[in-house]
Amino acid sequence: MAEKSFRLEIISPDRIFYTNDVTMVEYNTVDGEVGVYAEHIPMTQIIAPGRLTITEENGQKTAALLSGFVEITPEKVTILAEAVEWPQNIDVARARRARQRAQQILEQETDERETALAEAALARALVRLDTAEIK
Ligand code: ATP
Repeated sequence: MAEKSFRLEIISPDRIFYTNDVTMVEYNTVDGEVGVYAEHIPMTQIIAPGRLTITEENGQKTAALLSGFVEITPEKVTILAEAVEWPQNIDVARARRARQRAQQILEQETDERETALAEAALARALVRLDTAEIK
């Protein structure tokens, strides 16, 4: 029997990034990696940078999901993404520059806030480079 499907909607600041019926969606949250199937109990989550994997009936799609929120209901999952990119749209040179900038800051910086910002920027850059590789 086919796996039960649910509606996945991914909204980015400037467009509907993705909308379709899917059987599973996986992503990273501040509480760790999750995989969501149909009929999940309602909840909201805060995204942490990671790879987004969408399982459709006929295959999988991957994207880099950097920040945002998720709202889960039994029939629908809505991802309000502040930044989300398909592998082919990732600017690898920009991500490498962001990685280098963050690493330089982390080597020198002692300020807690600056360090935290650089760590977050480094995490985003590494996810982008990781996701771009699989295109
Ligand atoms: P940068 O320092 O290069 O701006 P960032 O991690 O601070 O990177 P974000 O704040 O996560 O950038 O994203 C801002 C916007 O730029 C979003 O629309 C995001 O999709 C886009 N963006 C950032 N980096 C890249 C990249 N390497 N390739 C494609 N789009 C990117």
